[in-house]
Amino acid sequence: PGSIAALPRVVGAALRVPLVTGERVEYANLDHAASAPCLEQVRDAVDELLPWYASVHRGAGFASRVSTRVYEQARDAVRRFLGARPGDTVVFTRNTTDSLNLLARSLPRHTAVLLFDTEHHAALLPWRGPHVRRLRTPASPSAAVAELDRALAAAPEGPRLVVVTGASNVTGEVWPVAELAAVARRHGARVALDAAQLAPHRPVDLKALDVDYAVLSGHKVYAPFGAGVLVGRADWLQAAEPYLVGGGATARVTDRGDRLGVAWSAVPERHEAGSPNVVGVHALAEACDLLGRNWAQTVAHERELLARLRAGLATVPGLRELSLFGPEHDRVGVVSFVVAGQDAGYLAAALSAEHGVGVRDGAFCAHVAVHRLTDGDRALRASLGLGTTVEHVDRLVAALRSLVLDGARWDYEVVEGRWVP
Ligand code: PMP
Repeated sequence: PGSIAALPRVVGAALRVPLVTGERVEYANLDHAASAPCLEQVRDAVDELLPWYASVHRGAGFASRVSTRVYEQARDAVRRFLGARPGDTVVFTRNTTDSLNLLARSLPRHTAVLLFDTEHHAALLPWRGPHVRRLRTPASPSAAVAELDRALAAAPEGPRLVVVTGASNVTGEVWPVAELAAVARRHGARVALDAAQLAPHRPVDLKALDVDYAVLSGHKVYAPFGAGVLVGRADWLQAAEPYLVGGGATARVTDRGDRLGVAWSAVPERHEAGSPNVVGVHALAEACDLLGRNWAQTVAHERELLARLRAGLATVPGLRELSLFGPEHDRVGVVSFVVAGQDAGYLAAALSAEHGVGVRDGAFCAHVAVHRLTDGDRALRASLGLGTTVEHVDRLVAALRSLVLDGARWDYEVVEGRWVP
């Protein structure tokens, strides 16, 4: 597409990988949904910070003050990126999983938690206790809204939280977040949005969606690993004991003879015990700023490539795309599929070893969803992003066609840097 030149560029765009023949080819990374490559401008921002980073909040030295400022400015970048309200707190975590576990440990007692069962494990598993209600995902977005309405009407009185994904990491399908939030609001429930898979592809605005919390991972929005975020209403988090304790989370510790007196810090530091990941957070913030400035091109680039990918996949004999809400439903650049009579693991290995195409196979940490959609436990997933080109998409489609026609016969593994059948 002509718009590609204007897009932020990823690091490693010209990476060459070995094939089983020994030849090297440009790597076609079609696994952005697992982790997106770092953007060049994010790398440069990290490079600039490296000589300066030091412990935040505690040091009086100049570098420490620079780091503290960078760290606090990163909260503002995340606020802008997610359309946070003035009273919302921004807690830095390790990733989406960490953010959701933190939220789960911070709920008021007896909070009723409602969610659909096709969620990623990070959103499905952290909630415990008798008041967790897992709803079977229905076949349409409007049925999901109606199902939530019914479930909330029957939920116990008291605090309530609805957990919903922005876009499925299996099918890429976009969930009706604003509609679900409107229903939740009518029943006095709060909403937590798992934006891990939506935020790399579409703008997310807490105010516009009327959701209370959002979580995401830096490594899925084109920053390196190590930093994630939980943004949202401060009150529950402020009232909760920190689930990770140590320096930074404590305002004051006093020796009371047989025990310690501990006064926890206010949010967000209350939930950021230990020396924070200044570099990771800076990278995350830089990535948010860059994505936020380039939505029009990013969305257009991905729409073109997604249409091309799906049209191509439709020509592969026996291939079936996975979908919760039907093939016409809006989705981000994530497509999972199975091929009749073909083992997903063998196909994925051959795509990589014989064609230099990286996809993902398995159940994508969403076992309930994959089991339901495949009648088995494995699928293949191709996911697009800022590093994807037309050639990558075309190579995947051509490779799949030839593998399916010839039969993928070998499993491969990498031994000492080489592919071995
Ligand atoms: N939620 C969704 C929708 C995801 O796609 C992922 C990552 N696959 C996660 C949560 C978990 O993210 P992380 O592994 O960075 O904690």
